[in-house]
Amino acid sequence: MSHIVHRNLRSDPPLAVSGEGIMLRDAAGREIIDGSGGAAVACLGHGHPKVIAAMKAQIDRLCYAHTSLFSCDSAERLADQMVGHAPGGLTHAYFCSSGSEGNEAAYKMARQYFLEIGQPQRRHFIARRQSYHGNTLGALSASGNAARRAPYEPILSPAFSHVSPCYAYRDRTDAEDDAAYVARLAAELEGEFQRLGPDTVIAFIAETVVGATLGCVTAVPGYFPAMRAVCERHGALLILDEVMSGVGRCGTMHAWEAEGVTPDIQIIAKGLGGGYQPIGGILVHGRIIEGLTGGTGTFQHGHTYQAHPVACAAALAVQQVIAEEGLLANVQAMGALLEARLTERLGNHRHIGDIRGRGLFWAVEFVTDRAGKTPFDPALKLNERVKQEAFARGLACYPMGGTIDGKRGDHAILAPPYIVDAAQ
Ligand code: PLP
Repeated sequence: MSHIVHRNLRSDPPLAVSGEGIMLRDAAGREIIDGSGGAAVACLGHGHPKVIAAMKAQIDRLCYAHTSLFSCDSAERLADQMVGHAPGGLTHAYFCSSGSEGNEAAYKMARQYFLEIGQPQRRHFIARRQSYHGNTLGALSASGNAARRAPYEPILSPAFSHVSPCYAYRDRTDAEDDAAYVARLAAELEGEFQRLGPDTVIAFIAETVVGATLGCVTAVPGYFPAMRAVCERHGALLILDEVMSGVGRCGTMHAWEAEGVTPDIQIIAKGLGGGYQPIGGILVHGRIIEGLTGGTGTFQHGHTYQAHPVACAAALAVQQVIAEEGLLANVQAMGALLEARLTERLGNHRHIGDIRGRGLFWAVEFVTDRAGKTPFDPALKLNERVKQEAFARGLACYPMGGTIDGKRGDHAILAPPYIVDAAQ
């Protein structure tokens, strides 16, 4: 048996040995379509020569310099690429090694911002049930994913509370239109502010498009502006987690571009480096940076490998390829095709309850009957079986169990690389 602590300690996963374009190959010579980019990571597919060349050039020049003493060219250029044109007022970037680390940085920066501007009483975060923000303790405390929280519940932070997500397929009642549903969710958020004490809340945290926990759930029109309005009424920040849904995955560079709001802090990861290197980060609104600069002038946080030169070089090359090769247009076009094909082939399937997503970020939700939207018994481990069946037929996809609160269905995510073509 392997000496690695795998996700499943009783498993013996196949060895991945090479990758090219949208394909992965294992040690047994099997060719697998990387249909979900892992967990929506491999946005350029595998073996992109420009990214590899950029990493090699960076390795030849400089592998590491500690950020307490130095900045480096690849990090500076990556920050310029991401916020040089100040999208939505986001003017600064902080780079770390994962989405979880990005979430931790976002929460700590938000808390420190309020300390610096003289509001130390702010100590609560409101996140959403059925959400996932990472596996480190702070990020898991924000996460509403009950299954992932369960073993660690006693050691999670009480600074985080949760309200309902925007999940129209299951939670909008027949009597409600979008506006009424949004009004109900806004009232719930307002109620949570009141319960905690409105001036004690630091931020509302949400995934712009819900990733793994619900499977590519987009908000109904007007949802984010309404949540933003509640935050603004009480002087709290809006933190959007775009670790899965951002950096082009949903057809715009930032998923929030389609929502009519801009975040105060945004978290990015997966598609930032496309899997070529471990990298995540936060993009920060100028007024937060002004608050920090006008106070102690430091961010009391940091990691040994933050803004790592090679990781930043890889991410810069990934972002340049996305821009130069016009890949967002391909995400939109191939996303429309994927939606059409899913609807055509599965739209009437008796065990497919919902097909949803945006860009190249799509999920199907499995039900025992479409009318009742009844989920499968979790004991069947449908998600695991879907994963194995798909794999046996040459497709890697990303299924998740719907055991969250007994009424959510299993789903599977498809998130192919942005370079995918119509035939593939
Ligand atoms: N936030 C979201 C929305 C995610 O989907 C994930 C990972 O799946 C994370 C945060 C955590 O990112 P990482 O696994 O890189 O720590």
